[in-house]
Amino acid sequence: VRLTVLGCRAGMPADGQPSSGYLVETAGSRLLLDCGPGIATALGAVINPTQLDAVIISHLHSDHCYDLLPLGKALLNTLIHHGNHHTPPPDHHPKPLYVPTGATPLLHRWAQLFPVTTMPLLDRAFEVAFAVHEYSPGDRVTVGDCALHMVGLRHAATNCGTRIEAPCGSLAFTGDTGMTDALYTLADSVDLLLAEATLAEPDTTAHGHLSAAEAGRVAARAGAGSLVLTHFTSGDPAWLRSARRAAAAEYTGPITVATAAACIEVAPARGEPVALG
Ligand SMILES: [Zn+2]
Ligand SMILES: [Zn+2]
Repeated sequence: VRLTVLGCRAGMPADGQPSSGYLVETAGSRLLLDCGPGIATALGAVINPTQLDAVIISHLHSDHCYDLLPLGKALLNTLIHHGNHHTPPPDHHPKPLYVPTGATPLLHRWAQLFPVTTMPLLDRAFEVAFAVHEYSPGDRVTVGDCALHMVGLRHAATNCGTRIEAPCGSLAFTGDTGMTDALYTLADSVDLLLAEATLAEPDTTAHGHLSAAEAGRVAARAGAGSLVLTHFTSGDPAWLRSARRAAAAEYTGPITVATAAACIEVAPARGEPVALG
């Protein structure tokens, strides 16, 4: 499994780093986890978005989904450039887009907000570029060689972590969550845990975020093979070093602090992650 961090900031992009978005590649699939502001651009620097097999959105906070419309329009552009301004060609296949239950009407309203009357195909991102599938906590989905398990976690908006099992390894991504026992279901013996580590101190509110120490505790108790910390409110190197130290006090396995464009390989059989740059 190869994880490419496209963006790792909580909230809006800052310091040249996009918000939440991660490309996960296995032998047979390319998945985009989350699509926050800046991700459509960052993704295009790594692969052509037409190569994606599916997009999975953890929850409907804007830092996790705001670039879905630009990404959808980028996919539609490839049809427009082939002369289809009104209807897609018969051999066109929309990309599966997995969103939380209830998101579909919002997506359709959003797609209509900026009409291009001369090229109406561009206003159909969530009908033509994407095939929208709503998921519920506990759902299981197969994409290519990946078995996905959507695990409900604890956040102000309904948020599911995604656990991906492929023949070449496993990866679990939290999205946004406070501490909850469901994190151990998500991360149980996973090769790589990609965990939000938003806060310097544990969350005492109902909003739901993890501190780096809590992310480390989950990785340790779940028996994760490696831990990647992400969803940062600061790009300050000292702040990030302190987050890493806090996680390392709880978890003795390999820890990576996410940075935009970082590429992390996890070998089969829970091997050590290798930073590729
Ligand atoms: Zn967030
Ligand atoms: Zn959130």
